[in-house]
Amino acid sequence: MSPIVTRGADLPADAAHVPGRTTGELAAHLAYLARAFKAPTIGAVWAELADIARERGWTHEEYLAAVLARQVADREANGTQLRIAGAHFPQVKTLEDFNLDHQPGLRRDVLAHLATAAFAATAGNVILLGPPGVGKTHLAIALGYKAAQAGHPVAFDTATGWITRLTAAHHDGRLPAELKRLGRYRLLIVDEVGYIPFDSPAANLFFQLVAARYEQGSMLITSNMPFARWGEVFGDDVVAAALIDRLVHHAEVITLGGESYRTRARRDLLARDPTAGTRTTATT
Ligand code: ADP
Ligand code: MG
Repeated sequence: MSPIVTRGADLPADAAHVPGRTTGELAAHLAYLARAFKAPTIGAVWAELADIARERGWTHEEYLAAVLARQVADREANGTQLRIAGAHFPQVKTLEDFNLDHQPGLRRDVLAHLATAAFAATAGNVILLGPPGVGKTHLAIALGYKAAQAGHPVAFDTATGWITRLTAAHHDGRLPAELKRLGRYRLLIVDEVGYIPFDSPAANLFFQLVAARYEQGSMLITSNMPFARWGEVFGDDVVAAALIDRLVHHAEVITLGGESYRTRARRDLLARDPTAGTRTTATT
């Protein structure tokens, strides 16, 4: 059986319909059409949904909508998976796993709004500040996931990781091309600004990254250092001020507080079960 190929809007409306095909021929033809259309889900679900449609008396339109909806859902899920794989998150951390009771100062409405990833659509930034162990990386990953799910390309790395990449690009004379390439990510996550001070070339590269993304693409930055100490981090108060100025112009700045979640979890565990200490020290 040769597949029917119809072209052009000038053909009769029923030109694609060939009566008298056997069920087997029709199945083979549908398989061909689904492949040609690059819609594998349609090829996989049309028969099962046709049975359901007959059983429940769906109209033709309802059946078509059900088949297409399955294909669209699969395509979106695949897109999300690709974006999440491409983001290189170091771990899986979700907002659902984030214990808000540990951060009473964190406004839930602000977090809920960030979770919609609207900030990534408008090139807004998010800055998460606070001491070690309070959940900055956890929230950065969780918000990155939400943004990827919402359809935005995301890339995650530590500040040191980004500087290494930019330095390599700079050495090869590819810095402008690399900055342009990074522009296709709607959200760039920079974890751990401040743990390792930047030398002057690194501070300069970081400034170029922030300047290139200003009002073009979002950045989510975490730091253990308050802004007042970014001069120390970047080795230069003027560069730090210029950076902060660009970053906070359209930004949500969130300061997390309290004691380290790791310390607290261990203490709670020890309080419940004094023998648990030996087991937990190894994992924290
Ligand atoms: P930071 O980046 O601020 O140093 P992390 O995000 O790495 O801290 O958090 C340290 C550990 O504690 C991680 O395993 C993280 O998942 C967990 N954690 C921190 N805060 C919370 C919280 N509020 N709810 C659940 N887990 C948390
Ligand atoms: Mg961290």
